[in-house]
Amino acid sequence: LVSRENHPQRSTVTVRGVPIGPDTVTLIAGPCAVETPEQTLEAALMAKAAGATLLRGGAYKPRTSPYAFQGLGEKGLRILAEVREQTGLPIVTEVVDAHDVALVASYADMLQVGTRNAGNFALLQAVGAAGKPVMLKRGMTATIEEWLMAAEYVAQRGNLDIVLCERGIRTYEPATRNTLDISAVPVVQRLSHLPVIVDPSHSGGRRDLVLPLSRAAVAVGADGLIVDVHPHPEQALCDGPQALVNGDLDDLAAVMRDFPPLVGRT
Ligand code: PEP
Repeated sequence: LVSRENHPQRSTVTVRGVPIGPDTVTLIAGPCAVETPEQTLEAALMAKAAGATLLRGGAYKPRTSPYAFQGLGEKGLRILAEVREQTGLPIVTEVVDAHDVALVASYADMLQVGTRNAGNFALLQAVGAAGKPVMLKRGMTATIEEWLMAAEYVAQRGNLDIVLCERGIRTYEPATRNTLDISAVPVVQRLSHLPVIVDPSHSGGRRDLVLPLSRAAVAVGADGLIVDVHPHPEQALCDGPQALVNGDLDDLAAVMRDFPPLVGRT
């Protein structure tokens, strides 16, 4: 279903009127985690100023440590919905458990499946049946074939509104949190008709790498970026060191504005 063999034209996925696909480069930005209404609104306004047309923000956080902040749950979803009202930005948010899919889908405009759940087939099937567009991150140890098969689980439930997100893979290199597999973008675009975006924040795990990796992603033909921003990263409850701050936003806006002519992206 997700293969390009039977579907030669690349697809565009529309999230509450916002297209993600071969004719554009879509910026999704916002806080890693929803912490407070003020922090989420501030981050959303920063995202919008940089050219974002979709707001990201986690209410359910799949953290490596069970002692780390796990997200605000439904309270976080309510904050996201308020900030959508205030800014007009549709919401992309993660769901980590099949039992929560209906609840998260009742607030979200796009459901995110994160790297740690990319092989959770019950969750993939549940989001496939939820009637909302899905952003499927690559499992950090998944091959491209495994990633596409995960997408197939979503598609099999009747939902082809799937955006794939390369977010770095686990390698032997400790200088970055994960290794961004930039070649995955054109490789997957040749194999699948689905849009492919890049997460330069979770791949590098470092603020200073977000802009260079964003430029690389856009240059290689990614259909969009998903970027963490935070008004006060030093106080962030989740992944502060990778969040862009106000001073970085002009540069991010420039990456979006100056993307190369859309040749070779079909
Ligand atoms: C996220 O985007 O909030 C996230 C946790 O990303 P990943 O699943 O890629 O680690």
